[in-house]
Amino acid sequence: MNIWFLTGSQGLYGEDTLRQVAEQSRRIAEQLPMPVEWKPVLTDAAAIRRVMLEANADDSCAGVIAWMHTFSPAKMWIAGLDALRKPLLHLHTQANVELPWSSIDMDFMNLNQAAHGDREFGFIQTRLGVPRKTVAGHVSDPAVAARVLTWTRAATGLAELRTLKLARFGDNMRDVAVTEGDKVEAQLRFGVSVNTYGVNDLVEAVDAASDPDVTALVKDYAEQYRVAPELLGERHESLRYAARVELGLRAFLESGGFRAFTTNFEDLGGLRQLPGLAVQRLMADGYGFGGEGDWKTSVLLRTLKAMAPGGGTSFMEDYTYDLTPGNELILGAHMLEVCPSIAAGTPSCEIHPLGIGGREDPVRLVFDAEPGAGVVVGLADMGDRFRLVANEIDLVAPPEPLPKLPVARAVWRPRPNLRTSTESWLTAGAPHHTVLSTAVGREELIDLADMLGVELLVIDADTTTERFTRELRWNQAYYRLAQGL
Ligand code: MN
Repeated sequence: MNIWFLTGSQGLYGEDTLRQVAEQSRRIAEQLPMPVEWKPVLTDAAAIRRVMLEANADDSCAGVIAWMHTFSPAKMWIAGLDALRKPLLHLHTQANVELPWSSIDMDFMNLNQAAHGDREFGFIQTRLGVPRKTVAGHVSDPAVAARVLTWTRAATGLAELRTLKLARFGDNMRDVAVTEGDKVEAQLRFGVSVNTYGVNDLVEAVDAASDPDVTALVKDYAEQYRVAPELLGERHESLRYAARVELGLRAFLESGGFRAFTTNFEDLGGLRQLPGLAVQRLMADGYGFGGEGDWKTSVLLRTLKAMAPGGGTSFMEDYTYDLTPGNELILGAHMLEVCPSIAAGTPSCEIHPLGIGGREDPVRLVFDAEPGAGVVVGLADMGDRFRLVANEIDLVAPPEPLPKLPVARAVWRPRPNLRTSTESWLTAGAPHHTVLSTAVGREELIDLADMLGVELLVIDADTTTERFTRELRWNQAYYRLAQGL
């Protein structure tokens, strides 16, 4: 994906000055933390409108950065900003860091006047109600670069969402509420298309996997994981079947252009095992996943994976607590489906019975999550809108080994503490399925939510239950008003 870099000015300055504007603007663009597509300096309303329409039409353009190096009378920007449908970042910077105090003259002042050119631009954006992120400071400042990069990641996630296709194998788990949602509204708001396939369509693809491909994949497992001896010995056929499921699932998703999917243990059709290892490995390759038909969490997972490719990001579920006073922890896992991108060390590949699903024992990867700072984020459908809730967390090593727990898991301390975190989470009506990430942080989520116009509540070190409850109440009013009639 590309980011376009626009520079505002006006014809009044004359060719010489505009040449300098262009040259300095190129240098600013080159100092950004990611490559950008630099566009010629904009000096009139027609050119501004045209470039915005081109940005809209170009599928490879994820967003637009705009900077007013000189004064660009902002009525010229009305038609263009009104037409723009891509994310916008207003970069408030200037060419020089220090002022040349002893030599500064009127020419220098006239060339370097972002201080008021960007104020004119800020006014028109606010007057028109244009959603954007504003980043101020010299482009060489690492904090500025980091904030621009964060926005770029969010824009990349948005671009992925706009074209995302999700395949559900089976419908929602019966009677579960929070995993339901409005798929038409999701397609309008996010862009994702969510459709259901009969699980036996998947079974056909699984059965079609060839024996040599299965053999090659099993060899791959043995190289990447610590495979339990029984899976290489008396229970080898179970491992081969798990590989067959992976091959079939991958083929189905690739042939349909799907980058996210869901399964439902109540609807396994002719599958002999609940897909565990296959789901884990597809998540590691960047696919979105949600259990029990949870397409919203699957969409969120794929989006966060697109924002930080190769990072540690997984489907997660709050499972059980350690309520030891002063050292409260959450143990998160799922039946099987935790992504090895968050693993500490080499996962082990094991087979164990699973009461749920009522099929043969499923093969799965077992590991502890790598300690470090992270975030869990959930997406709920509140009936009249979607709501994102994020909690900043600190992943920790389990206080003791877990030799009898045959499933991948993560242990974390929620900020600011378990009581405030859970009281806030529950008051917000946030889901039990989440995406856990150590690769995407709060600022990326805030930028993404702003781009989508979706509510985001963040529970962090400064949260109090009282303030959070008030924020919920205010948001209730704000999001209804912001939607109009
Ligand atoms: Mn679940």
